Amino acid sequence: MTRRVLVTGASGQDGYYLINLLRQQGCIVHAQSRRTIHPNSHLDGVHWHVGDPADRKFLDALIAGVMPDEIYNLAAISRPSQSWDEPRGTADINGVVPQEICELLLKYKPDCRLFQASSSEMFGSEVVSAQNEQTRCVPNTPYGAAKLYAHRMISAYRKQYGLHVSTGILFNHESPKRPLVFVSQKIAYAAAAVSLGLDTVSELDERGRPILSNGKIALGDLSVRRDFGFAGDYVEAMSLIVRHSVPDDYVIGTGQDHSIEDFCQQAFSFVGRRWADHVVLDPALVRKVDSRYTRADTTKIRSVLNWKPSVDFPALVSMMVTAQVTAIKNSASGFMPDADVPKR
Ligand code: NDP
Repeated sequence: MTRRVLVTGASGQDGYYLINLLRQQGCIVHAQSRRTIHPNSHLDGVHWHVGDPADRKFLDALIAGVMPDEIYNLAAISRPSQSWDEPRGTADINGVVPQEICELLLKYKPDCRLFQASSSEMFGSEVVSAQNEQTRCVPNTPYGAAKLYAHRMISAYRKQYGLHVSTGILFNHESPKRPLVFVSQKIAYAAAAVSLGLDTVSELDERGRPILSNGKIALGDLSVRRDFGFAGDYVEAMSLIVRHSVPDDYVIGTGQDHSIEDFCQQAFSFVGRRWADHVVLDPALVRKVDSRYTRADTTKIRSVLNWKPSVDFPALVSMMVTAQVTAIKNSASGFMPDADVPKR
């Protein structure tokens, strides 16, 4: 059977890797974005649907029109810091829209399987040595709270109606496709720029300042520790979850944690530099409310679905720095980058 698959939020990092995986699997891919022109527009053989899933008429028509066998709901305000600027919008797109999708499945396609992108940010300030599916959730951002609402609703609809709806509690995952507003990509970009002899760059951070200025990148709290994985691995986990006979919730991570300082050390040493020579601390960039420590306990997904990540931390960081070197060289030469080079 050829599966008809709908991916929402398909223009982002995970959308890129997921669409490629689904195409390799021979699926008919329908993808949603609010934008006509976006970083994944160039992908071949994809049926794009332009509209906002927060617009209920659009969402209803999208699901009724596509009648998908599977939905991967990736659309979200995906940065916890941004969720403070748009708390109501975050509550809707990250929290209520996934519930609305369950209602539409009941209305049009109760046998459609759903993957919901839950987040380790739901654990918030709960400190344990590693987080799993049973860990208490104490979210401390609108992002985490809204994701938790959706997470609980998916579970409730599964139990109440027997829908095949699942979640992946995703820990941080990165790649050359990660937007430059994320700290991992900023560090990769700064290391790449330094290695090419650049001193001050035109790419700006969220405060409108050059990401690299006088050979230095400004960062906040370097001691924050995260479980960093590779996005390409995580979309394979999403697909395994959807294809498994029993719908459920799964933590998706590597089981290892690294600090932001480790990320800097890895990125700059990859280009033969000392990170401490290129990083300045800026207290204004320290978040008042942050999840200071995440590490996934991946026992369940490893044992039930036999999934494990293929890219380790050093390989992930060097992949990102290498891609940024290529991107900077391409933009300096005016070359239009191909699909595998990060877009700005
Ligand atoms: P991205 O930010 O790269 O992509 C998310 C997409 O959602 C965007 O491309 C955007 O598409 C769409 N979107 C953004 N804001 C809104 C909005 N207000 N209304 C509707 N759509 C919106 O995220 P990732 O690909 O990295 O993440 C995919 C999913 O996984 C997200 O739900 C995220 O929260 C979750 N997740 C990701 C983690 C990570 O480390 N990457 C960790 C934990 C969870 P467009 O503007 O084209 O409409």
